[in-house]
Amino acid sequence: MTTTPDRAHARIDLAALRHNAGLLARAAGSARLMAVVKADGYGHGAVASARAALDGGATWLGVHTVGEAEELRAGGIAAPVLVLGPITGGEWGRAAAARAEVAAWAEPGLRAAVEARITGIHLKVDTGMGRLGAVPGDIPALAALAASLGAPVTGVMTHFATADETEGPNAGFMREQLTRFRSAMRQVREHFPGAPAHAANSAAALREPDALLDMVRCGIALYGCSPFGDDPVARGLRPVMTWMSAIASVKTVHSRDSVGYGRTWRAARGTRIGLVPVGYADGYARSLGNRAHVLVGGRRVPVVGTVSMDQLTVDLGPESTEEVGAEVVLMGAGGGERITAEELAELRGTISYEVVCGVGRRVPRVPVG
Ligand SMILES: *Cc1c(COP(=O)(O)O)cnc(C)c1O
Repeated sequence: MTTTPDRAHARIDLAALRHNAGLLARAAGSARLMAVVKADGYGHGAVASARAALDGGATWLGVHTVGEAEELRAGGIAAPVLVLGPITGGEWGRAAAARAEVAAWAEPGLRAAVEARITGIHLKVDTGMGRLGAVPGDIPALAALAASLGAPVTGVMTHFATADETEGPNAGFMREQLTRFRSAMRQVREHFPGAPAHAANSAAALREPDALLDMVRCGIALYGCSPFGDDPVARGLRPVMTWMSAIASVKTVHSRDSVGYGRTWRAARGTRIGLVPVGYADGYARSLGNRAHVLVGGRRVPVVGTVSMDQLTVDLGPESTEEVGAEVVLMGAGGGERITAEELAELRGTISYEVVCGVGRRVPRVPVG
């Protein structure tokens, strides 16, 4: 990409994604790597992300919905796919047709999966997340039922609630969940010897060797974000998405002039204001107004005024020389500077996951590398 002809786009660095997959595969040791590509690959594009992850060392793919599994198959991807989320009425046949494996945690799902001739069922244990999964006390009966139905149980799984919390009152809870999971694993394996076990998300895979088991399920780290909210680059990860736009208009304002809805910002001096044609409809949160920075020509400049639906304004500074067409990086690296998803998340009071997933449909994804 030498030019940015469009209003805004998200460059997806597939070489970085392959690198991150390789790093996670090495961290996983002998455990397999499932690349989680739900929610359109956390906003990066599901099919392109899946392909790059498989090239980088993943052997499995994880999605939330049957529709997402179908999208991968339509994209020509043959690797095993696990649907992590719940499956409803008409979807069972579609899951089977897409050769997707499924998670099950109760009798109706187990029966529906067997009836639909699903090829692989992963029994899900709720060891403390409090969402999907059978509680440990119900696992012996569930495993016995699966055996009596002749269900093709190809895995046993759980999900951690606090893998990203390395300190504080929740720091020990992941180990407690792991202990509960090990006993449920043994109960499942009485009926299904050697059923592969998996529990770790990105945070657990990066921090807890005991949680690697037979497979790890990584999402956020694959995309070069840190599950811990710190700098991913310091962990050897490479951010995959660069969100770009260009200055669409420049105007000079005078001291005490206001900019934008509600006049939330007033010039303290005469300066040059650049208009970036991206707003909260594109996923650039309104709460970033008067708080965040963007990169213009590799220089950090502040977002001033209220972020509108389709536009935001930046203070280029009185001495600035940028004109219409100057490249703007809303998130990513430019020059020697970087704006990370973690930085934007912190300003918004959320996590990097929501920042990257939230980049809107109106922003085309442009895969490179
Ligand atoms: C989304 C998801 C993951 C991936 O989590 P990350 O924190 O993004 O690595 C793993 N397992 C399950 C069940 C999930 O829903």
